[in-house]
Amino acid sequence: MYPNNTIHNSDRFFSPGATSLLVLFFLLAGALLWKIAFNARVYVYGAARECLKAYVVAGAWQMEKLTSDHFYLKYWPENRAEAEMVLETAERFYGPVAEDFSFKPRGKIPVILYQSREELNYSFGWEATESAMGVYWAGAIRVLSPREWIDEKDPARVRELFASSGPMAHEFTHLAVDYRTGGNYPRWFTEGVAQYEEYKLTGFHFNDPSGSLNKKLYSMEDLTGGFDELPNQSLAYRESFAAVSYIVNVYGEDMLHKLVRQLGLSRDFDSALQEVLGIGTEELETRWQAWAMENQDPDGQISLAIYALTLDSYSETWLSKERINFFNVTKNCKKGRNK
Ligand SMILES: [Zn+2]
Repeated sequence: MYPNNTIHNSDRFFSPGATSLLVLFFLLAGALLWKIAFNARVYVYGAARECLKAYVVAGAWQMEKLTSDHFYLKYWPENRAEAEMVLETAERFYGPVAEDFSFKPRGKIPVILYQSREELNYSFGWEATESAMGVYWAGAIRVLSPREWIDEKDPARVRELFASSGPMAHEFTHLAVDYRTGGNYPRWFTEGVAQYEEYKLTGFHFNDPSGSLNKKLYSMEDLTGGFDELPNQSLAYRESFAAVSYIVNVYGEDMLHKLVRQLGLSRDFDSALQEVLGIGTEELETRWQAWAMENQDPDGQISLAIYALTLDSYSETWLSKERINFFNVTKNCKKGRNK
């Protein structure tokens, strides 16, 4: 029996070779549209970030300005000494972070120094109860005056404590991740990477007891969907740190940076993870939680011994051993430190 007209006609007009070409055409067209959509998204995100950055900096027009090789800092005249210290610390962390993330920013990075929590919170429209000491947002780093949280008179001691326990390494890492990925990351991921890099460079880690991993944990879905709304922020931060630490310790730091590069190519997080580690987000959740249970101390903190090598390689030349004592005696003052 002869095929019906419809099929016959389509066979006549689209031979197998032509059909393949047509499929190829649609595939290529689809890929091109996807590429254009991606480039458009990256462009729009980048443009929006630069506009917001300009807006943030414009809001600080009455402040003084200090400039270094890679940053410029806005500050009030009475905070001149602290401004110099903040800028010096920012430069100190610039090299290692920029090298780790292969990050080469165009132009200098704005840093704004606020003299009180109220002033910093007001700049974001936050409630007075917020207690961040550093915030990254829209290409700019905002820093709370070290005088607000370091109870020391000796300038050398303040400098050391600000470098070892302040927010500069953490916030600059957020900035590097944001630029390298075009904003394409789950919130928990950038928090985990920022904490990991900070720990590697300074030895600092959050140790609020309520962040202990010895309890029911948030799922990756919870951490991805509404990180800021989770009631136990200390736990959300600790889990983020643990998940990234798992990736570094089991797969190596190169794989973490490869993951960042894949996100920069617009891959969604799950497929970037598949590409780099060969596992999806669900598998990552199962694995990092099992790993964290085996590698934590009785307080639910990831065991420090795991990081000894990376810690030694950077911090010894920068920071005195006295810093370690500082962590022990003032552990509660970091609660809710960063964003
Ligand atoms: Zn952060």
